Amino acid sequence: MPTLLIRHATVLVTMDEQRHEIADGGLFARDGFIQQIGPTDALPTEADLVLDLSDHLVAPGLINTHHHFYQTLTRAVPAAQNANLFNWLKTLYPIWARLTPSAVSVSTQTALVELALSGCTAASDHLYLFPNGARLDDEILAAQEVGVRLHASRGSMSLGESQGGLPPDSVVENEASILNDSQRLIEAYHDPNPGSSTQVVLAPCSPFSVTSNLMRESAALAREYGVHLHTHLAETQDEEVFCLEKFGYRPVDYMDLLNWVGPNVWFAHSVYVNRDEIERYAKTGCGVAHCPSSNMRLASGIAPILDMVSHGVRVGLGVDGSASNDSSHLLSEARQAMLVSRLRAGLEGASLSNQGTPSLMTARQALEIATRGGAAVLGRSDIGSLEPGKCADFFAINLNRLDYAGALHDPVAAILFCAPVAVDYTVVGGRVIVEKGQMTTLDLPRLVEVHNREARQLLPG
Ligand SMILES: [Zn+2]
Repeated sequence: MPTLLIRHATVLVTMDEQRHEIADGGLFARDGFIQQIGPTDALPTEADLVLDLSDHLVAPGLINTHHHFYQTLTRAVPAAQNANLFNWLKTLYPIWARLTPSAVSVSTQTALVELALSGCTAASDHLYLFPNGARLDDEILAAQEVGVRLHASRGSMSLGESQGGLPPDSVVENEASILNDSQRLIEAYHDPNPGSSTQVVLAPCSPFSVTSNLMRESAALAREYGVHLHTHLAETQDEEVFCLEKFGYRPVDYMDLLNWVGPNVWFAHSVYVNRDEIERYAKTGCGVAHCPSSNMRLASGIAPILDMVSHGVRVGLGVDGSASNDSSHLLSEARQAMLVSRLRAGLEGASLSNQGTPSLMTARQALEIATRGGAAVLGRSDIGSLEPGKCADFFAINLNRLDYAGALHDPVAAILFCAPVAVDYTVVGGRVIVEKGQMTTLDLPRLVEVHNREARQLLPG
């Protein structure tokens, strides 16, 4: 029964119900779950592994609720650098059609290592192309070597160009085989228990790449097995126009029609949602993965996140696919969320006084979205905060560094306001996967070498 003791953290951010922040804090964990938390002098003095985190901030592991790991292979592709969503997709689909099982595997590890080094302990991924024999299994098995918890989405596309969809017919799949494979994956890998390291999600890609029938069938299958549903929604104005023209509904109304609402559903983006739609999200329990860098990169817009939070919508954070970010730095994404929310407030004419006006997202709100918020979106009650009974999932940052010089009157705010840094420790279920800034589970130089080789094969010449 391995035990872990954390001692002397300068501040330990719990994100519990009362949002306690504990000075000279620590925690004691057994078998991956927290048993005690509090000031160091109130904790046991011995454990199998003892970490003295003097001069460090400790916070719950960050949770990524939207990503496309495979896109780490196609970052900064010249032809897709200056395009909006639909043009960006049309440029990249033929490149992604060359994906292979080994490309899925290595890109999974690259993305998860980047996430882990930025404090992430649980991530959802959305893989929706399966060319050349690639399977979601390639991702799930590769992730297990890294040690970050994975919610692997079985994505899908079935509405090709010839049927009025956006993707070329060559990358869409037959609907019967999508549903068969979805069922196989749930039965093979989905673990709903506390401390789960792998869960499966069903995730038809977007209104412009799947049929209504596949949306309905996926929802029925997900509900039969008790797994979550995920898709892109209300990301751009182009999508809104597409939905109105093709289906006669705004994106959120279209989801209502398909029975795609409820606490087992979360949507990526939701930039273009009105007040009524936000209230419906809150009422039905739909969650949102906010991806601010991607929304800026593709000139999509600014999601009304603070409105959603104040209405009680479950909101988490996502770095989105690495071809539209082009990074998997989750702490940086939390900073982006805070900053772009303020930009929206400013553009809407809100007061810009620094007296904590409710219209400005605070550093602690951004951290809350990235932790508690993400756990709520993924439907997990065992992660997202540091409390007895929850998973020992956290990160630690050494505060004694150039980036935070002059900001230590409020270390919690410093990690959001100051330049995003790589973390010093990431611990998942009591297992240290980042130690003194280094991955303990993978050989990083070799990973980068293999990754670049796979990327060159996707973009010959
Ligand atoms: Zn996405």
